[in-house]
Amino acid sequence: MSPRRVVIIGAGYAGVMAANRLAGSKHELQVSVINPVADFVERIRLHEVAAGSRPTAAVPMKSVLSGRVDFVEESASRIDPVNRRVHFSSGRAPIGYDGLLYAVGSGQASPGLPDGAYGFGDAGSAARFRARLTRLDRGATVSIVGAGLTGVELAAEVAQQYPQLRVRLLSRGLIAGDLSGSGTQAVRARLAALGVEMVENAEVQRCDGSNLITSDGVTLPSDCTVWAAGFSVPHLARDSGLPTDAEGRLIVDESLSCPDYPDIFGAGDAVRVPDPVGRHLRMSCATALPLGAHAADSIIARLENRSPAPLSAGYMFRCISLGRRSGLIQTVAADDRARQFAVRGRLAGLAKEQVCRMTLSWIRSEIRRSGSFRWPRGPVPAEAK
Ligand SMILES: Cc1cc2nc3c(=O)[nH]c(=O)nc-3n(C[C@H](O)[C@H](O)[C@H](O)COP(=O)(O)OP(=O)(O)OC[C@H]3O[C@@H](n4cnc5c(N)ncnc54)[C@H](O)[C@@H]3O)c2cc1C
Repeated sequence: MSPRRVVIIGAGYAGVMAANRLAGSKHELQVSVINPVADFVERIRLHEVAAGSRPTAAVPMKSVLSGRVDFVEESASRIDPVNRRVHFSSGRAPIGYDGLLYAVGSGQASPGLPDGAYGFGDAGSAARFRARLTRLDRGATVSIVGAGLTGVELAAEVAQQYPQLRVRLLSRGLIAGDLSGSGTQAVRARLAALGVEMVENAEVQRCDGSNLITSDGVTLPSDCTVWAAGFSVPHLARDSGLPTDAEGRLIVDESLSCPDYPDIFGAGDAVRVPDPVGRHLRMSCATALPLGAHAADSIIARLENRSPAPLSAGYMFRCISLGRRSGLIQTVAADDRARQFAVRGRLAGLAKEQVCRMTLSWIRSEIRRSGSFRWPRGPVPAEAK
């Protein structure tokens, strides 16, 4: 492959990181990024937007994207891997590519979203939930289903901004149960201090607008229910006949290239990385940035007739905001398993805010110096031990 024209579908964390890295490389590449909206959305701040602590998570695209990148404000409707073209839902003429990066991210878990529940995970659903919150009467109950990092952050943010509402957080297992002992305790203590009602080991089956019904038949009154139990991915890869897993994520190899179509690469939430290097990876900005950078490096390696290197990406921290003035920084091993040490309280809240700002700085640094972004190595793959 000689990827003179690289097309990137999706201008999120992975796509913009890759675009800047490629555009600043020593190769004369024509880089185009396709995205349905002209702003970059800081998804990691959507709980702040939903709760009204921040007016918007939108950042002007030109403040994060290299001026050498051609920005195409469109939604891709189909990839034609044989003729190497991307088609658009608007009917605009298709764009050809020599190399393609699939970085369409994820959004609200719409399949399985019960009637009457608000989705959560993209800018549109955050705005709808925000509007609903402002219309609720004093004493109304808001139920947040799903106590992953997103659900926990959302519950704390809403409880802090709307002390007149009752906020309930429901979890299939234990809330914050995968943190260290002190981390779990800190999260729970903070949620309790904010008045969040914690319901554990509860599988929500239905919601009918004013009630939630759990799988063991318990009915809980709920004036507003928001579904924060996992993200789903767009079906563009599947609809284009590309290899996908059961969730619709593009299957890539260890270098992030698509095994059936070596001109196609993938990064971020919308790809499935093979177990030896990807088993521990979770959908996150902390994953999307290194995957975007690694995919760019793989594309460059192909251009130089080198074999792309396998991915090695791991973690050091999980950073959780718990309202505007508190948080938790949980240290983790490269494979994301919690270590003993955690920082809590105001200091952790400030650190989390710094991390959010740093994500944009890392993306912008690639404009000035391609290849500058570095990330923690992943765990040693099982068969290499
Ligand atoms: C409230 C909330 C808090 C979070 N907090 C954290 C956190 O603290 N730390 C963390 O690491 N992660 C966090 N995450 C997760 C993180 O935001 C995502 O994992 C991350 O955004 C994934 O990056 P991405 O580049 O893969 O995709 P995205 O950021 O989702 O970007 C994908 C882009 O592709 C575009 N796109 C989709 N389909 C098409 C198409 N057909 N054509 C063209 N463009 C398309 C989308 O519009 C979007 O702009 C949080 C998420 C939420 C919702």
